[in-house]
Amino acid sequence: MLSDLDLAKYPFTPQTTSLVESLGIKVGFLTDPTYREILERAKKRVEEAIKDGVVGADLRKPSVETLSYPVAIMFVKALGDRFLYRRYATAEAKRASRLLKKELNAKLLHLAREAFGWRINANMEEDAERYPFLLHFTDYLRNASRLHEAKWKLVNRAVRDGYVRVTKVEAARLMESEVERRIMEGLLAEGEVELPEPLRSYLQEIGKVLEENRGRIGVEALPSEVIIEAFPPCIRRAYEGLISGRKASHMERFALTSFLINIGMDLEKIVKLFVSVSDFDEELTRYQVEHIAGLRGSRTKYTPPTCSTLRTHGLCINPNDLCKRIRHPLTYYRRKIRSIRGGRERKQPSKEQAQTATASSSKGPQEE
Ligand code: SF4
Repeated sequence: MLSDLDLAKYPFTPQTTSLVESLGIKVGFLTDPTYREILERAKKRVEEAIKDGVVGADLRKPSVETLSYPVAIMFVKALGDRFLYRRYATAEAKRASRLLKKELNAKLLHLAREAFGWRINANMEEDAERYPFLLHFTDYLRNASRLHEAKWKLVNRAVRDGYVRVTKVEAARLMESEVERRIMEGLLAEGEVELPEPLRSYLQEIGKVLEENRGRIGVEALPSEVIIEAFPPCIRRAYEGLISGRKASHMERFALTSFLINIGMDLEKIVKLFVSVSDFDEELTRYQVEHIAGLRGSRTKYTPPTCSTLRTHGLCINPNDLCKRIRHPLTYYRRKIRSIRGGRERKQPSKEQAQTATASSSKGPQEE
């Protein structure tokens, strides 16, 4: 049996559902001022997810913390924004993982069984100190398949009688994966949430915070080696469309994916990017990315369409001055990077740099 504090820390357990049912709380009742504190904390949960990428744990009033969780899920679902779905699910899962890592092994074991029905046992063998848990391979695979480091591949694990040895940190990471998946499944499930009028102001406030932060989150989702400031307008629009959940044509998605591949972004990072900012199917996305990269099918590595093709498809939007001097989005990117770097260097040029700059500028702009 979990304590009130446990429920506040881990509100995704079946006990929380029972608690909500036993209290007889219905959506219509939430307009009553008695629930104001819960509504405020629920709003904060979602805002923390948007701004920080992780939900904090305010455990001063366990019942408020516990009940604010289903209300926060309701807010997220009512907003119907798939980007927010993913952001919120990930942020709640990270919250759980942080708390789980601080628990005793016995509590972790109990939660894994109670909340998720995992087949997990305490390891009694001599390597128990390092690997305190034995997790059934089906529960392991369901969650580890979403993790990309080689150490999670089943072939790299010691499996004994169908059970995988896992460390405490790994168990918490796998539970994080399970929480995220379950929240996403709940959010994507059929059915809409209709909130009574007095509660809609909460949605408006959350929606405002989301729009204020959407662009920044999209930039953060890109790896550091990718310079978004150097994206040509067409690709920037495709990328921003992706994170805002706008439906993109096949050509637009192809242009964006092939662009990211050709500027050298790691394929796994591209898959992760698409899946984290949308609800794309991970396996299908991986297949498509690998196909465009030339690792599947015809084994042809595709380059992005030329400007002229993009123009024909109505995807050349807001071209700027640099666009007038290029015929391909990749040329735009390379030139822009040079000009960004050149600008930085020009702030404090050495004698040698000054000479190089003079020599190259005398060549004038050329199409590559
Ligand atoms: S001119 Fe080319 S690079 Fe510039 S926005 Fe149009 S398609 Fe993109």
